[in-house]
Amino acid sequence: MNGILYVVPTPIGNLEDITLRAVRILQQCDIVVCEDTRQTIKLLSHLKISKYLISFYTQNQLKRIPQIISLLNEGKNIALVSDCGTPAISDPGYYLIKEALNKNLTVVPLPGACALITALVGSGLTTDSFIFLGFLRKKLGKMRKELELAKQTDKTIIFYESPHRILKTLEVCKDVFGDNTDIVLARELTKKFEEFIRGQICDVIKDLSNRQILGEFVVVISNERENLIK
Ligand code: SAM
Repeated sequence: MNGILYVVPTPIGNLEDITLRAVRILQQCDIVVCEDTRQTIKLLSHLKISKYLISFYTQNQLKRIPQIISLLNEGKNIALVSDCGTPAISDPGYYLIKEALNKNLTVVPLPGACALITALVGSGLTTDSFIFLGFLRKKLGKMRKELELAKQTDKTIIFYESPHRILKTLEVCKDVFGDNTDIVLARELTKKFEEFIRGQICDVIKDLSNRQILGEFVVVISNERENLIK
């Protein structure tokens, strides 16, 4: 019988944020496929689990896929994890999942921690419908185009950003959405210094310019055209 590929979310900071089912799958599987083995060993030791690990990161993933598919064909049950949150969400996983499905293998995704959902729910901005852009394009012109397209959807916009790029990115957001658009930056989610920085884009830029910027960010932008809807 073929093995199953389990897609297993792991915490985005707080180690308590792992489900009972995720722990059981990690205990019972034959192999854990992970991004950075050091990161996963830390989590597994915390859970008192010891497993055979296969490293699977952006640069080696395509080379690794045939090996992982062979192991599934041999009947091994495999848990796919990433360094944090849900695999395949701005993390490696998509190509492996697609190939497993192409080969008629069973893929079982587990629900769990994901920074974009945690940020959206805590943002206080509309959750009815939203668009997630992952990491924006790095070239400012392309970033602007991406944001302009997203603006046309009238849905809450969410994306991931690193601390050293956040200010430049916010300047582009200000140009595209206007000074007074509401924005929320979710920083260090689930961790000791978790913070939601809320306000109009121009004020949030002022706030960030006056402090040391630390931690990873999820950016959530209000994008409702309320007047048109009413
Ligand atoms: N797979 C992950 C998920 O499900 O959210 C995302 C991985 S992606 C490589 C990492 C980015 O997610 C960070 O740069 C940051 O934008 C966001 N992120 C992850 N953990 C976070 C946290 N605790 N607080 C705020 N943002 C976080």
